[in-house]
Amino acid sequence: MTSAPSVIEQLLLPAECLLCHALLAPRDASRVVCPVCRHRWRPVRPPWCKRCGQPEPHFGPCRLCRDWPTALSLVRSAVWLSDGAREAVHALKYGGLPRIVDDLAAAMAADLFPTDEASVLVPIPLAPKRLRQRGYNQSEALARALARLWRIPVVDVLIRSRETATQTALTPETRLANVAGAFTPGHGPGVNLPATSLVLVDDVFTTGATLAEAARALEQAGARTVYGITFGRAVIPDFT
Ligand SMILES: [Zn+2]
Ligand SMILES: [Zn+2]
Repeated sequence: MTSAPSVIEQLLLPAECLLCHALLAPRDASRVVCPVCRHRWRPVRPPWCKRCGQPEPHFGPCRLCRDWPTALSLVRSAVWLSDGAREAVHALKYGGLPRIVDDLAAAMAADLFPTDEASVLVPIPLAPKRLRQRGYNQSEALARALARLWRIPVVDVLIRSRETATQTALTPETRLANVAGAFTPGHGPGVNLPATSLVLVDDVFTTGATLAEAARALEQAGARTVYGITFGRAVIPDFT
């Protein structure tokens, strides 16, 4: 069971911000997070590694994206996973609040990202078991919200080929091993892999292992240009 309010409760309760519980103004009634709390989310900003968007290393090349597949050329995250952003992701994944995606997508869409008419959004697929438990794929919900803002299609060209252990407690090295071979390319209608810019969409970036593995599967299927965008970016302790 989730703790989400029922439809009836939503109709009876005045809409309040998930994070600070302030009443939402009528014009924000469809939102889950109020403008003040959304403003507190801390954008990820340069100086950063131009490829993976991680804060610039103190010396030498970036270790985080060194082993990524060549096709994965640009990854960006909207905000750091702090100041209420973590709670917002939690509400999306575990709180049964999929409509929060519009708040998250608005923060993602504010960033300049190189999409054009040849771009499609590709959600990171969820393992079937987790999809059954949650009832929806949070990455797909995010991709659909972004698609409404960017006016480009969502195409499911990835299939989760095996279940993976939850990544939360793993180190960067074991995360990569954990997702190795986790994806296989499917057949999105009307997608010409070499000519299309594929924008992978996920909720959170931690080490980039999931995006890198998904990009590897797409690259092996013929994709040449893969980008990645996430709402949140976790701080990796002692990783510069
Ligand atoms: Zn608020
Ligand atoms: Zn990098």
